[in-house]
Amino acid sequence: MSIEGVFHVVCHDCPTESLRYTESDAENTAAAHTDSTDHHVSVGRLE
Ligand SMILES: [Zn+2]
Repeated sequence: MSIEGVFHVVCHDCPTESLRYTESDAENTAAAHTDSTDHHVSVGRLE
């Protein structure tokens, strides 16, 4: 089950950021970046 909305995925250690439209996609995007770079990524929901 995924929650729809606009989710802002942003890395705190490099300029990487992107928008995703389900929470699960945002979490996957953040996890993939963390796995490949060991950077700290956060996900915020936009209204
Ligand atoms: Zn990064």
